Amino acid sequence: MPAIEHILESLSTPVLSQYDVVVVGGGASGLVAAVAAARSGARTAVIERSGCLGGTGTAGMVAQWIGFFNDKVRVVGGIGFELTERVRALGGSTGFRRYTLAEASASPVTITNFPFNPEVLKIAADEIAREAGVDVYLHSQVVRPLLGERRVEGVVIENASGRGALRAAVVVDASGDAAIAAASGVPFAGAEPELRQHRQPCTLVFRMSNVDVKAFRALPREDKRAIAVDGVKQGRLFWESLSFCSTPGEKDAICLMSRIPGIDALDAGDLTKAEQVGRQQVKSVVDFLRERVPGFEASVLAGIAERVGVRETRRIVGRHTLTESDIVGGVRFADAVALGAGPMDLHEAGGTGIALWMPPAPFEIPLACMLPQDVAGLVVTGRAISATREANGGARHMGTAMCLGHAAGVYAALAAGGSEPDAQEVRRVLVDQNALVSSDAAVQLSEREAPIEALPA
Ligand SMILES: Cc1cc2nc3c(=O)[nH]c(=O)nc-3n(C[C@H](O)[C@H](O)[C@H](O)COP(=O)(O)OP(=O)(O)OC[C@H]3O[C@@H](n4cnc5c(N)ncnc54)[C@H](O)[C@@H]3O)c2cc1C
Repeated sequence: MPAIEHILESLSTPVLSQYDVVVVGGGASGLVAAVAAARSGARTAVIERSGCLGGTGTAGMVAQWIGFFNDKVRVVGGIGFELTERVRALGGSTGFRRYTLAEASASPVTITNFPFNPEVLKIAADEIAREAGVDVYLHSQVVRPLLGERRVEGVVIENASGRGALRAAVVVDASGDAAIAAASGVPFAGAEPELRQHRQPCTLVFRMSNVDVKAFRALPREDKRAIAVDGVKQGRLFWESLSFCSTPGEKDAICLMSRIPGIDALDAGDLTKAEQVGRQQVKSVVDFLRERVPGFEASVLAGIAERVGVRETRRIVGRHTLTESDIVGGVRFADAVALGAGPMDLHEAGGTGIALWMPPAPFEIPLACMLPQDVAGLVVTGRAISATREANGGARHMGTAMCLGHAAGVYAALAAGGSEPDAQEVRRVLVDQNALVSSDAAVQLSEREAPIEALPA
């Protein structure tokens, strides 16, 4: 939104607290980072603008974790894997499953996912943060970093109580948008004006109840594709997908079927438009599903995500930039702290297609992708790490975001001691906390051990 004039403000901001580690954003990555930092002995706070933790997985209602498995190899351990067990124990999931992503599109890919009930994840997230001793600030927006000489020293937040500062030895930027990094002078990519029309589309997720999930799953793929292609041709569907996740009970469908192009999610006006256009699309898709798609005849719109899902904004330019050839070539890094599994997943900007494929093997992500070159007191995690656009397509899944978050939290807790920790020390602590930090550590599962249930026919 362009300014019509400028006013000068003089603010006196109370300092509310002093932490070792402040995590900005309580999404997939930030939640795990906060738990990891607290468990590593740091006095930790997490600041989240929504009313719940979990980020895109809860407020965005994207109700399946992927990035845990590359074929039959598991790449996520530590706190990320623990969260799957906690959600399962609370009845929020029946576990990992084989699942065909974008089944009705021209390039479907079969992967292993972990579908969950996002409402149960909200509860699990509260519990894991509370047990770790994290101070949680919900309904709180970080508005700027506190900056020293090339160093981040805390953040300013605004919430129902007003405005306040939190000092921190180390700040973890888990905002997904590199919001703190960008405001601290860290170079970034992804916000160039010429990219505006080329960013991946946003999606507003919605939930249908009273769905006959079995009847839908029984439909052959060719039939699903024919219906989807027809829906797009009629302008009633917005991409060639009828994919949805279902929570235990198999009576609901959490649908990723809207597709809102040309949105700059760093612009408040565009974000407003995305929500409004998204809801119009939901209306159209709901009518189409009820009329045309077997299993949806008696379904009811049960909910729309609190917030539109954003696939792409800024990424920092850090000490190493992860590339697609790093991923495909299985490049090994001495400072690897997280493992990705894929799939590579880039939605076509203007059209209705998707480039979707699995990398040949798990891939390593080095700590250097999370660290700014020239600003201290800051580590960046999740969707905004230093990666090319293509590499980010394979590294932005929530499973990977949780691995990165674990590494960011451990790094931050160690760095809060005053000096920059050595990558090997970060790796050692991560391994002690059951994280999988290198390709050698990925868990090869035998058929018998694999915690994978087949989808009902
Ligand atoms: C439509 C869509 C579908 C997707 N499908 C899948 C899928 O099926 N499976 C999968 O694993 N991944 C999927 N992804 C990718 C994945 O959801 C994200 O890339 C992932 O959530 C990134 O994790 P994150 O922690 O970096 O960001 P997020 O989970 O988005 O969390 C960032 C958090 O920071 C908070 N925040 C931001 N700025 C501030 C601020 N200034 N102050 C306070 N809080 C702030 C936000 O509110 C948010 O909670 C999908 C993404 C989208 C958008």
